[in-house]
Amino acid sequence: MSYKDYMVRATAGNAQIRAFAATTKELAEYGRKAHGLSPIAAAALGRLMTGTVMMGQMMDDGSDMITVKMDGDGPMKGVLATADNKGNVKGYVNNPYVIMEPNASGHLNVGGAIGEGSLTVIRDMGLKEPYVGQVPLYSGEVAEDLTYYFTKSEQTPSSVGLGVLVERENLSVIAAGGFIVQLMPFADEQTITHLEFNLGKFSSVTDILKAGKSPEDMLKIVLDGFDIEFTDTVDLNFYCNCDRDRVSRALMLVGKKEIDDMINEGKPVELCCQFCNKKYSFSIAELEEIKKKAK
Ligand SMILES: [Zn+2]
Repeated sequence: MSYKDYMVRATAGNAQIRAFAATTKELAEYGRKAHGLSPIAAAALGRLMTGTVMMGQMMDDGSDMITVKMDGDGPMKGVLATADNKGNVKGYVNNPYVIMEPNASGHLNVGGAIGEGSLTVIRDMGLKEPYVGQVPLYSGEVAEDLTYYFTKSEQTPSSVGLGVLVERENLSVIAAGGFIVQLMPFADEQTITHLEFNLGKFSSVTDILKAGKSPEDMLKIVLDGFDIEFTDTVDLNFYCNCDRDRVSRALMLVGKKEIDDMINEGKPVELCCQFCNKKYSFSIAELEEIKKKAK
């Protein structure tokens, strides 16, 4: 089994089905470490980044960005992920330290930690108006919410499976991944029935990953009995495009008065990138320079 994150894209059943599957252990673990996430938060972010990076592959244009966020009234408050169509993804959790009792089936209670709320998908297509779709949260477990979103908001019957396995001892992510399977509008009844049968007997993404299976294997299980054509393989990475310049421009937008308050504190200011938690320190002299350009 390879330890590099990647995803595959496939079609099946004479192109009546399109499918995506990914292994995302490295990027999920990177996100966990960067943000110091609790196991529930690591599971939520890992699942959402996995779903979002696969959805990124549904966009045609290389400059398009997709953001998926879940906002809820639970203690985790929310989780957000952003991806491009080149396999880069980043994200964060509003309350990274959330801890809760396991749910009734003994699993990390991601749905309970998010609570009731909404799932929003924002597709940013450069200069054009962004496309925004929103649905209420279905269960807060992420995969079911994305399934509900595709069916409700995009009228594309879909099945999404996502899984993140967090080690109990050292709390690191030891497996992560998922799949998205979608029916094309011209799919016939036989194809639909057969796919539903396969999904009905599918165990779980984490079981499959734990057994050392690859994304290709996962799709062969979900699409058992169909002829599958793998059309693409994409490397996946946790990637943040923040830099000093971007952070100082964000600081300019905070406004002259707030920058003044920081200067009056008399010590350098440390700012963290929301997405990757990288720290940027600004000296008083640098803050003075930024203030000159601020409004
Ligand atoms: Zn960053």
